[in-house]
Amino acid sequence: VSTPTPRCPACGGGDCREILAAPGVPALCNALAADRAAALAAPRGDLRLASCADCGHLFNHAFAPDLAVYDADYENPLHHSAVFRDYVEVLARDLARRHDLAGRLVFEIACGQGDFLRRLCAVAGARGAGCDPGFRDGGGGDGPAIAPQAFAPGLLPPETALVCCRHALEHAADPLAFLRDVRAALGPDARTPGYWEVPDVRWTLRDGGVWDLIYEHPSYFGPASLARVLMRAGFAVEAVAAGYGGQFLAAHVRAAAPGRAAGAAFAAEAAEARRLAAALGSTVESARRLWRARLAAHAAAGRRVAVWGAGSKGVSFLNLTGAGDAVVCVVDINPLKRGRYVPGTGHPVVAPGDLPELRPGLVVVMNPLYVDEVRRTLAGLGVAAAVVVASPTPGEEPW
Ligand SMILES: [Zn+2]
Repeated sequence: VSTPTPRCPACGGGDCREILAAPGVPALCNALAADRAAALAAPRGDLRLASCADCGHLFNHAFAPDLAVYDADYENPLHHSAVFRDYVEVLARDLARRHDLAGRLVFEIACGQGDFLRRLCAVAGARGAGCDPGFRDGGGGDGPAIAPQAFAPGLLPPETALVCCRHALEHAADPLAFLRDVRAALGPDARTPGYWEVPDVRWTLRDGGVWDLIYEHPSYFGPASLARVLMRAGFAVEAVAAGYGGQFLAAHVRAAAPGRAAGAAFAAEAAEARRLAAALGSTVESARRLWRARLAAHAAAGRRVAVWGAGSKGVSFLNLTGAGDAVVCVVDINPLKRGRYVPGTGHPVVAPGDLPELRPGLVVVMNPLYVDEVRRTLAGLGVAAAVVVASPTPGEEPW
């Protein structure tokens, strides 16, 4: 496919080519539906991914922001997993060590229900404030002051000592405009440090994260595109590093004097992202074929398949493979997801405790980091199912 596309939203480069088209995917993977009919009627959008020849940025040039509207129904906390809690704890301690935060204010953009912000404040002895359109006011008086809305410049107090933003930039229709708003809110003379975390496109493309290609993410950053968009917005990039088993990318920045050029930072990483993106179309097609055939074979053998993880990966897996009746349910440890339905396919979400009754023969785990945790949980429940990772490439098959 070679359709002319708009300029790169990260570096501004004009040489961008479409490399993957997947029409009609659910617009909001993390908005589980209240019933099956609503799940099947969930809004859909087109995934048309383009790659930038300059910085390797991958982006959906068909993204329509009004289809992806976040509200309090949007459920995306990962803190129910012990592996993720450990990661967050280490991150909070690292930020507390890097920055002088004791008694000072940390502002987190898109802070969800404030779990990370509270943890960081506790570890650093800092005060917290934040915003998130999905924030549900718990009514608790103490703790961070969280505005139930998207970021707006007026929300950022001038005394902010650290700006944090995790897993929001990839949702922004215009990441440069979003970053410029944050930079402008800090004031021209500010040198405030910042921490920006996004999924790492190299994981998505190289290490089997094809199920992370979702409508909610109009942008897929690599080190080059993340650094360049931050620099264009007026931040000096002090470090960009991969974390969480290579799945995440973290940029440590500082507000800089306006007018910095992005230059050609991280040229080798840009080349790697471009190379990986070039293979994306065939990677996704072979992953879909592989899992369609596998799921059909299990169904034909009368084996009940459960998918573990009703987050975006699980929802994307079920939609991209067209799993249908070959999968009986999706398991999630978040109790708020139980009894809800997967947008696009209508699969029911169950709790681990429901599995002894459902008797799955195979559990497909969406995130390889959780395999041991899933095996322990199944053993504890007395469920004798084979456990396999939803890898996009053929591997060992334990069934
Ligand atoms: Zn670019």
